Amino acid sequence: MLNTLFYGSDQLLSDKWNDWMMNSESSPCAVCGNPGCVDTGMRPTSPYKQGYKFALFQCVSCQSMNTQPSPSDADLSKYYDSGEYYSTKEATQGGVRKLGWLDRLRRYARRCCVKYYWGTQPQTMSTLDHAIATFGKNRFGWPPDSLTGSRMLDVGCGDGTFIQEANEVGWDAIGLETSSVAVANAKKLGIQVVQGELTDDCFESQSFDVIRIWSVLEHVRDPIATLNKAHNLLRPGGWLVVQVPNAKSTIAKLLGERWSGWDVPVHLTHFNKKSLELAATSTGFDMATVHNASTGTLSSSIAYGGSSAGRIIVVFVDKLIDAMGQGDCIVLFARRPLQ
Ligand SMILES: [Zn+2]
Repeated sequence: MLNTLFYGSDQLLSDKWNDWMMNSESSPCAVCGNPGCVDTGMRPTSPYKQGYKFALFQCVSCQSMNTQPSPSDADLSKYYDSGEYYSTKEATQGGVRKLGWLDRLRRYARRCCVKYYWGTQPQTMSTLDHAIATFGKNRFGWPPDSLTGSRMLDVGCGDGTFIQEANEVGWDAIGLETSSVAVANAKKLGIQVVQGELTDDCFESQSFDVIRIWSVLEHVRDPIATLNKAHNLLRPGGWLVVQVPNAKSTIAKLLGERWSGWDVPVHLTHFNKKSLELAATSTGFDMATVHNASTGTLSSSIAYGGSSAGRIIVVFVDKLIDAMGQGDCIVLFARRPLQ
């Protein structure tokens, strides 16, 4: 079944591919609804089925890009639960994820950031932890204003470790996750997680103070419906936090088809800073901040970037890139208006 949809690179110029290119109507832009999306000519390769390529089309209005041919929900499920998808790979291969020392260090840095920037009240921290939080704030996101309230929802929570960290600094946090293996993994850790999508009516309206949608919006079929639902689930004044790869970043342009942020076919929409802002404001949010951030896309795009030495070097390269405002992900903070 997959073979009827995912054309291999050796088939790129085959009749089947040409038929699709000639006969398929490009779908309207998922962000602004404009019907005019044009072929960019870029053909990134899927990291899950080596050699399988997809096309990137671009909206002529908001410049968002989309993956074509767009896989069906059934085929997407095969990718997520195949054992090859990165955030559930360990779970599908037998239980709770075992972290290497670099992953543990990264996790510790995020814990410091969450403690310093996301706490519901000031936290006592050592000088070293404070320095780590400051160093990593761009990577993990830092609210432009104090977050207040008690209930947090982490959409696409993966193994749920962010929820643990949020609960440690005073939140009553819960996760939402589509992957059955990720939900099972989180439950093994005693983390409160609901299986489903944001648009599935899993929660009461106005029941959250913060909704975090981190590395998710690029995966969903209808990002506008997702943000509309987030607006409905937030209390007036509540915070929306979104992180996505930035398809118009300098890194994406330099690396072209090799940029790992394309992540075809599971990334359906490829945002840029302006189109993400448009998505938030068109669904009724007041913008607070949107900034570029590097969250690890570069290290997974380059040769040896996944080695320990490569990852350490890239952390500092990312820091430099972030200092120049050129990170290849976007972090957006917006609020549901009080009225
Ligand atoms: Zn558009």
